[in-house]
Amino acid sequence: MVEATSTPKKSPRKWLLTQNSDLRRIGVFNWTLPAFAVKLPDGSNFNVCPQAGVCAQLCYARVGTYRFKNVRAAHIRNLLLCRDSPDEFEERMTDELSHKRYAGKWIRLHDSGDFFSDEYLLMWLRIMGNSPGVSFYCYTKEISRFKRIAENNAPDNFLWCYSLGGKEDHLLDLGADRHADVFPDVEALIAAGYSDQTESDLLSVLGESPLVGIPANRIPHLLKRQGTETFGSLQRARDEKLAAKKSAANRQFALVH
Ligand code: SF4
Repeated sequence: MVEATSTPKKSPRKWLLTQNSDLRRIGVFNWTLPAFAVKLPDGSNFNVCPQAGVCAQLCYARVGTYRFKNVRAAHIRNLLLCRDSPDEFEERMTDELSHKRYAGKWIRLHDSGDFFSDEYLLMWLRIMGNSPGVSFYCYTKEISRFKRIAENNAPDNFLWCYSLGGKEDHLLDLGADRHADVFPDVEALIAAGYSDQTESDLLSVLGESPLVGIPANRIPHLLKRQGTETFGSLQRARDEKLAAKKSAANRQFALVH
């Protein structure tokens, strides 16, 4: 009698890139980090979105399903891998992107989180350069970092859209730089002369108009907080308030010295 030899079952591959329902609809894969300030397992704090401004109080990625325990844990795992083991991350991500499931596809970086350091951005530029059959896009509030590092050095397969609501909004030329603003609804963005990207998130980088309008997520308490404003107008108001406070403090200093 010949004994049947059992072949060990291959465990399913653990992909670094995922798809949420919106992105699956348009065939896009996604690399996600936690949003804004997070507490890490060793008790330390880390800000994944250093240039976040008013957006942090209106961020869809800090509420709802993003707060589920398993979702948060996965995002923190992603952060720790790319921040603390960058060589391993770069190798694994480059290898994963060479798989046929990504051939000709788009990858969105950070539906939550942002490019938190120069090294992290430079690593992604290398990964993209080594993955010529794949296209990448993102929104970012890291405006000075992108202007300094990416604007002249990005590979052809990477497109991005600056997004308003951050501390560096004032560095943008709103007439020339491609940028997105979040409006209370579609009617408001059209009235402001922005183009609606609801049909496909890829319009943020492929649409003809560099003025990209995003209707706010239908999350009642965030909609209430935003009111009739946009992320951009709220940030401008905050910047003006801070500037007025600073100049009052300077005047006071000049008077007593
Ligand atoms: S930069 Fe994006 S992910 Fe980070 S807090 Fe702002 S809206 Fe949220």
